[in-house]
Amino acid sequence: MTLIAGIDPARLEALRSREAARFVAAHPKSAAALARGAGNYLDGVPLHWMKDWPMPHLPVVESAKGARITDIDGHTIHDFCLGDTGSMFGHSPPPVARAIKAQAGRGLTYMLPSEAALEAGRLLTATFGAFEWQIATTATDANRFALRVARAVTGRPKVLVFHGCYHGTVDDAMVCLENGVTVNRPGLLGQVADLTQLAVAAEFNDLASVEAALKAGDVAAILTEPVMTNSCMVLPAPGFHEGLRALATQYGALLIIDETHTISSGHGGYTRVHGLQPDIFVVGKCVAGGIPTSVWGLNAATAARYHKANAARASGHSGMGTTLSANPMQFACLEATLSQVMTPGAYAHMESLAETLQQGLSKAIAQHNLPWHAIRVGARVEFICAPGPLKNGTEAALAHVHAVESAVHVALLNRGCLIAPFHNMMLISPATRAPQVRALIRAFEEVLEALT
Ligand code: PMP
Repeated sequence: MTLIAGIDPARLEALRSREAARFVAAHPKSAAALARGAGNYLDGVPLHWMKDWPMPHLPVVESAKGARITDIDGHTIHDFCLGDTGSMFGHSPPPVARAIKAQAGRGLTYMLPSEAALEAGRLLTATFGAFEWQIATTATDANRFALRVARAVTGRPKVLVFHGCYHGTVDDAMVCLENGVTVNRPGLLGQVADLTQLAVAAEFNDLASVEAALKAGDVAAILTEPVMTNSCMVLPAPGFHEGLRALATQYGALLIIDETHTISSGHGGYTRVHGLQPDIFVVGKCVAGGIPTSVWGLNAATAARYHKANAARASGHSGMGTTLSANPMQFACLEATLSQVMTPGAYAHMESLAETLQQGLSKAIAQHNLPWHAIRVGARVEFICAPGPLKNGTEAALAHVHAVESAVHVALLNRGCLIAPFHNMMLISPATRAPQVRALIRAFEEVLEALT
């Protein structure tokens, strides 16, 4: 018998079918509501990513508060997905909810700054470091605009990304390695352009592969997360970030650090906690407490080069910005989040519970003799159904075992714990409490017991 990630396939199938039936039996109201309303949406969902949840159908949410979601079937569940980071500081953090209420009657978008905008700028620098900031709405947009600046100041066409990375739906970054050669990602819809004209892929933790790509002299920027969080979780090897910084400087490429997920690392993100030195800093998702907002900032040298390039261009569209960006609601929420929510004290709480979670999951994995591991970057924990630590995106791709992961996710949800789809990610928010973490560890133990 061939085991799947150490699991007997018959036991896996028994768990999968039992848990699917249990989910359906427990969610009749959600099923009825979907039957009434989902048909108006393409494929039955308002965002096609929702098809990636592994449940037989979606639960319909009634409300969410702190680290809990209540569905219309009356289940209140512990939320460790937290909107895949958008709600990493908890659902509707009270200072953000108050800021929304206060701004709601004072105009929602007017393409002019508010006083909160000016205070938010000060707070961004105090929190993340000396960058000159711009506000966008999604992290995807922030990365796209950062890339435009990188190309403008270097006059080079390509972005270097890591195999298995994700930086949003940034077309240019949608490449991967196939037998060591950069190719368009196979899953892209409607991809008729050859992205390898604009991008080159290298392996994370492999400075030689980075240098080989940079040698061509056509790379405007290296775009990377400090930790790969979108292909399982791959931590940087000692010296990797120092090497990356040195190579970028040596070959005249900018270094863009995308902190959208690694903002879980601690106050100021991985960059502040570990002393990285990006030329451009990007963070999105949770930076304004869940109101769609992203920020990107240039260090002084890059800002100086930007001013030169910008002065030299013809008037007309820059290719950067979107109409609803930098609106007063974003600033009210950004100011509230940076000053009252994203605090060192909140991070201390998040980190401590995340460590408890990682240890609890690791212990359960060891007790059941599974070839798995649990890993963490600050408040972000992941269990991986393969031995670790993983070195790069190629190893991470092989470590994904959809059949096991999807069955475990549904079984955890039936035990009251929601974790992220796509991967096995669990986030701790300032609102998450120790009994919730204990409930997740207990649920995980129970599921492993059933599988082994
Ligand atoms: N950067 C990283 C590292 C991400 O993980 C994501 C989304 N998962 C993005 C950017 C894009 O964020 P958004 O979907 O909000 O544009």
